[in-house]
Formats: sequence, structure tokens, C-alpha cells
Amino acid sequence: MQFQNSLAFAQQLDEKDELRNYRKEFHFPQIAGKDVIYFTGNSLGLQPKMTQSYIDEVMNDWKELGVEGHFHANKPWWDYHERLAAPLAKIMGAQEEEISVMNTLSVNLHLLMVSFFRPTKSRYKILCEEKAFPSDQYLLQSQVRFHGLNPNETIVEVKKRKGEHFWRTEDILAKIEELGDELALVFIGGVNYYNGQVFDMQTITQAGKSVGAYVGWDLAHAAGNIALKLHDWEVDFAAWCSYKYMNSGPGNASGVFIHQKHLGQNDMPRFEGWWGTKKETRFLMKPIFEPMDTADAWQISNPPVLALAPYLASLQLFEAVGMEALIKKRNTIVAYLEFILNEIANEVSGTFEIITPKDRGCQLSVFLHGQGRPLFDYLMKQGVIADWREPNVIRLAPAPFYCSYEDMFRFGQLLKEGILAQID
Ligand SMILES: *Cc1c(COP(=O)(O)O)cnc(C)c1O
Repeated sequence: MQFQNSLAFAQQLDEKDELRNYRKEFHFPQIAGKDVIYFTGNSLGLQPKMTQSYIDEVMNDWKELGVEGHFHANKPWWDYHERLAAPLAKIMGAQEEEISVMNTLSVNLHLLMVSFFRPTKSRYKILCEEKAFPSDQYLLQSQVRFHGLNPNETIVEVKKRKGEHFWRTEDILAKIEELGDELALVFIGGVNYYNGQVFDMQTITQAGKSVGAYVGWDLAHAAGNIALKLHDWEVDFAAWCSYKYMNSGPGNASGVFIHQKHLGQNDMPRFEGWWGTKKETRFLMKPIFEPMDTADAWQISNPPVLALAPYLASLQLFEAVGMEALIKKRNTIVAYLEFILNEIANEVSGTFEIITPKDRGCQLSVFLHGQGRPLFDYLMKQGVIADWREPNVIRLAPAPFYCSYEDMFRFGQLLKEGILAQID
């Protein structure tokens, strides 16, 4: 498609956009009385308007039924979480039984490490990307120390090449090959939070498995953003949060995936609690743990229903639209944003560059040369909510559910004004 950097052209794209009506399904923050241009769906997705009614339903059931709500609420609480498994399975490319929703992301990753990081004398190393999301670094380091090992000798980071802003799959595969029998776990963020790169999860997973390692993915920036086939790729485990592209509210619950082949095993090392034991006999309060045959075996506590309600609401929107339509619009709107950025970069001659590689999802990361922070502050004042990462990167994620092509055009105009104002 031949793009144009004009309001009329952007509006034409909006008219043809099959998802244009979904914008109205979300609450937009306002700055100076106008809806903002929202680029931070990769950090905290906007609130769907129907979320309130899902929370109200739980509050009302609690008000009217008290403890009876566990079994007699409109959506009974004791198995509320099970309603999320089917829609999530579609989004993650999983079987329903491979999905559970519980706790929060970093907590779940720790719990999954109990099962999938079991170092031995000879096989103990972890492979990850350099400068992983800080929580992932802390989690790996503390897990390693917990096992009495030294992080410096255990955690191996794949580096970007000098002068490049992205990781090369071939470098990751070479490292896996090199570590071979020593490699216990490959653990990477499927979509990098900083540069927006989408890793070749299928190829990397296969390579990890071929040397006998477990392979797990942090999908915080992948869930609800890119096409996933966790089951077919034979990923061992994955976890993600629900508040980024999944629009389920600040700090909300996390989903986990555990491959079918690890389910239904009594001897799986795992931290256990009463909600992981078989539903049928749970309330007999027996002293012996009998795991559920599903990923719910990893559930420790009874579900946080007030947190799951907004997640369930949001998943209804995903059900209605489907990942395919979201990805189709995502590709076009990100390409349009890229086009506009390049147009502006030409006009203001090289004050910034896009560092996101072609393997990407919804996010473009823009590296600002020279004065970055004042420009970012200027944009915020003009009603653009974007996100700043040190030293000099603005992350822009035009979430296809609610961002418009007109937003992209208007952003371009503001960016140009802002840069010219800084230069003057
Ligand atoms: C957002 C994000 C997290 C956040 O973890 P919480 O436990 O939900 O605070 C973790 N890892 C990655 C890669 C992220 O992008």
C-alpha cells in the first residue's frame, strides 16, 4: 500500500478499518479536554467499558450471597478461573488444559522455575538474552543462588552484535549448541520489552530441546500481541501478565502455560496448595495431594475473583475480534506509524531512528539522538502518552484494538513540531 502523510489519507484508512468500532469500547484518558493519543498499550492497556459490569457482578453476588457465592454466584467463584482457559488457549495457541490463571507474572515464573529449573552437577546453565527485563534478571539470579550456584557461572547471556540493536537467531542457536549438555534451561522474553523484537520462538525452542534443555518464555509483551503456537512449538512453559496488550487492569493476574506432556504427573516437583488438588475431592480435605490433570495443578490458592473479573471481560473482546483480525490491523497501523516516522525523520534530518527490527509486533522503539527528554515531555503535554526508557528511547505501541490511523498522523505532526521547537 502506498501511504500518505495526510489527515485525509489517515481518515480513509480509519473508514476502511474493520476494527474501527472497538475504539468506542474503551475509556480514553483525557488531556486538556481531549482523548489522548495512547501508545502505552504495551505497558498498561486501556480499560474496556464493559469491565465495570464484570466487577459489579462479583460485588453484587458477594453482597447478596456472602459465602454462598462460591457455588451459587452467577459465575460461581470456586471455578471462576476456568472460564478464562478457553479464550486464552486460542490466543496462546494452547490446549485448554495447558492454561491456568493465577498470581502475578514474576511470582508465576518463580513457581514454574521450581518445576523446570532443576540443576544437576553437569547440567545447570541457563541461557537468556542480555539485558532481559529486570524482574527476569532478578528472578534468574535468585533462583540460581537458591540452588547454591553462582549466577556468574550459571547464567549465560546472548549479546547483540556490536553496532546492532537486535539479537540474531543464529547467535542464540550457536550458544545453545556450544552449551550442549550443560544447558538446563533456555529462558527468554518472547517479545523484547525494550526494542520490540519478536524472537523466533519455534526455532529457538526446538534447538533448546534438541540438546536436552527445558525451554520457557516470558510472554509479557507477546500475549495478545503476536501469533503464538505454544503447544505445537513444544514450549515447556510460559507465563504472561494480563495488563499490557490484554487490557485487564493494573498489576492484574498472570496466565501460565504448561505443556500437556508435563501434566497429570504425581512426581512433578512443584509448590502445591489446595486449589491444585483434584476438584472432585478437594473439599474432603484429605492429607494427600492429588494433582489436577491440568495446568491448574500449579494453582496454590483459591482464585482472586475480583482480579479475574476484568480479565474475563477483556477476553470477551478478544473472543469477538480474534487474534487474526488484530494482527492484520496491527501490521498495517505499525507500518503506517513507521512510514510517518520516516517521513518526519527526513524532514528534520536524522534526529532519531527506529531501532526495532523487522521481526516485530505492535511496538516501535525510537532512539532519539541529542535532546530526548524535553521532546518527550513536550509530547506528553500535547496529549501523547508514550513511554520513556533510559538512555534515550521512546516506545510507541499503537494497540490495534483502540488506536486509529488518525492518531498516527496527528502524532507525526506533534513530533515534528516538538523537534523543531527543541532545535529553535
Ligand atoms: C511487564 C513485564 C513483567 C512484569 O512482571 P510483574 O510480575 O507483572 O510485575 C515481567 N517481565 C517482563 C518481560 C515484562 O515485560
